Amino acid sequence: MSTEHIACHCCDLIVEVPTLNPGHKAHCPQCGHLLSSQTFNSINKAGAFSFSALIFLLLSLPFPFLAFHSQGREQQVSLIESGYNLLLLDFPILSALLSLFILIIPALLLCAYLLLLIPLRKRKAYPWSYKIAQILFSLHPWGMAEVFLIGVLVSLVKIAGMAEIVIGMSFWAYVLFALCLIATITSVDKLQLWHMLDQVSGIQRKVPPHSLGSAKQQQLQSCHSCELLHTQAEENCTRCGSVLHQRIPFSIQKTWAYLLTSIVLYIPANLYPIMHTTFLGSEEPSTILGGVVVLWQHGSYPIALIVFIASIVIPIAKMLALLWLLISTQMGQQHRIEERIWMYRMTELIGRWSMIDVFVVAVLVALVQLGGLANIQPGLAATAFAGVVIMTMLSALSFDPRLIWDSLNKNERESLKKSVLE
Ligand SMILES: [Zn+2]
Ligand SMILES: [Zn+2]
Repeated sequence: MSTEHIACHCCDLIVEVPTLNPGHKAHCPQCGHLLSSQTFNSINKAGAFSFSALIFLLLSLPFPFLAFHSQGREQQVSLIESGYNLLLLDFPILSALLSLFILIIPALLLCAYLLLLIPLRKRKAYPWSYKIAQILFSLHPWGMAEVFLIGVLVSLVKIAGMAEIVIGMSFWAYVLFALCLIATITSVDKLQLWHMLDQVSGIQRKVPPHSLGSAKQQQLQSCHSCELLHTQAEENCTRCGSVLHQRIPFSIQKTWAYLLTSIVLYIPANLYPIMHTTFLGSEEPSTILGGVVVLWQHGSYPIALIVFIASIVIPIAKMLALLWLLISTQMGQQHRIEERIWMYRMTELIGRWSMIDVFVVAVLVALVQLGGLANIQPGLAATAFAGVVIMTMLSALSFDPRLIWDSLNKNERESLKKSVLE
């Protein structure tokens, strides 16, 4: 990749990203945001990993995922049946979310990677390659294969005392799929990919004249999808076709709306049972916090801690962080910039891990259906909690971190830049 000028996604500073050698990374000198990284032989590596991931995903579908033996009776479940069972039990939202996050979105991600990488290996790109790349990067936060696997492990610990659990072929195929998917995602750098598409298409992009400083102050804007710089007057990105805007439109209002919805949903998510367990005729409802207490009492300390952090600490921390970001930005606060940027990055990164408890319920409900002997039904809190996780994720995605920097004047930006460089 040759030298390229882009505006940092996090702070809007125009930076020159130099040609990177394999293993090297470029960070923003003002906010420390990772701008680009180069991996050795990235296209071939990512192509091989995404192809393997797709094969493992297909192999994880037809065979049993988990089997459950209790009192001489057996129940086994495949991945597709797990979503279908939730639908039969009249929980269509949970069923749709499970299928989307663990199968449909990861499958779409892999198809998009292959459609881009196979032609790129032969140094080819098509006009539709740009659209595929745009869709690919917007789908990334919603693929939750690895979160689902942790959810499966927690479910196994939860029902270990009730019955004997057999791990099926599909489970192992899904583990390999999730590992290959992570390897694909980490092999491809967004900026390098966009640049490579241009390179093999023989297109030389021209960026408008600029100097170092904020893009907005120079009447420039960068595409939120491919990061190409444009003038303020342009409406659509000349590379990927995305609608251009200097800042996410109505960022503060949208972030507030999603955040308030998540706070409202958090109340039923904690007050109502997340699932009802019937074992040998006696029914017991359990709430999110109740489930953590039971795990702790049974001595499963690490699992209790994982569920406690994912289901209680992360959602509350994320809501408080978004509240602080919103209020401090609206009040035009000019201090603690680094802490606020760090907090923004954390909310973006950790939000999806709260989905663990929803996946635990989905797996247990799909697996434990032996009538009065052993039976698990989802509770109202499962849907409410899934809503909390999705709303906080949307809230973090709607927040434009560049607003934090907009209130700073030039001198303050300069002093911060120096402190980051030192
Ligand atoms: Zn930056
Ligand atoms: Zn673009």
